[in-house]
Amino acid sequence: MNIILLGPPGAGKGTQARILVEERDMVQLSTGDMLRDAQASGSEMGKLVADVIARGDLVTDEIVIGLIREKLNAGGAAGGYIFDGFPRTLAQADALGELLIEMGQSLDHVVEMSVDDQALVARITARSTCGDCGEVYNDNTKPIPADEKCTNCGGSNFKRRADDNEDSLKTRLLAYYKQTSPLIGYYYAKGQLQSVDGLGEIEDVKASIASILG
Ligand code: ADP
Repeated sequence: MNIILLGPPGAGKGTQARILVEERDMVQLSTGDMLRDAQASGSEMGKLVADVIARGDLVTDEIVIGLIREKLNAGGAAGGYIFDGFPRTLAQADALGELLIEMGQSLDHVVEMSVDDQALVARITARSTCGDCGEVYNDNTKPIPADEKCTNCGGSNFKRRADDNEDSLKTRLLAYYKQTSPLIGYYYAKGQLQSVDGLGEIEDVKASIASILG
């Protein structure tokens, strides 16, 4: 089963993707993570995209489609793929459709996670993650433990994303509404869109997604 998690920054796509990976043996393909890895490795491409990401704009379709093509060609997803943060433009959506056809695969569900904008800003400016295992924390709802050890892996390497500040968040939200939200209509017209309320508790959102995926 291959699915897309669609929604604005901070909607909780990454959190739900991690749950699906654990529980359903799916593989998470997050272009945001791939781009951050490229930056961390110091590759030419990583250097090329650094400013764009820090500003909150989208990197080119060519780069992200290339990253996704590489991962799909590598194969190895027994339970299928979760596309997280991809596609983000209509051109990327078309490219994904073609790549899946080439592989003889289908897109089974597009799950839109909706959250109101004020909640997004509050979530993102309060978030941090464990740099070792990726567990997500939030200053208000799930603070880093007092002993500063990750509840999931015990590590103490907590990170805040450089683009999780109010300025780049505004740009990211604008990019979402201008370039990504048309995908809601695109997948609706194809009969593939289903929506969940992303504002609830993690467990409730998980249950809503499970009822769609079956
Ligand atoms: P968010 O929390 O905004 O959903 P991501 O981790 O998915 O963040 O992405 C971080 C940044 O990486 C984006 O703001 C954008 O600059 C870049 N990026 C990630 N995925 C894509 C994509 N599919 N197309 C273009 N740019 C992307």
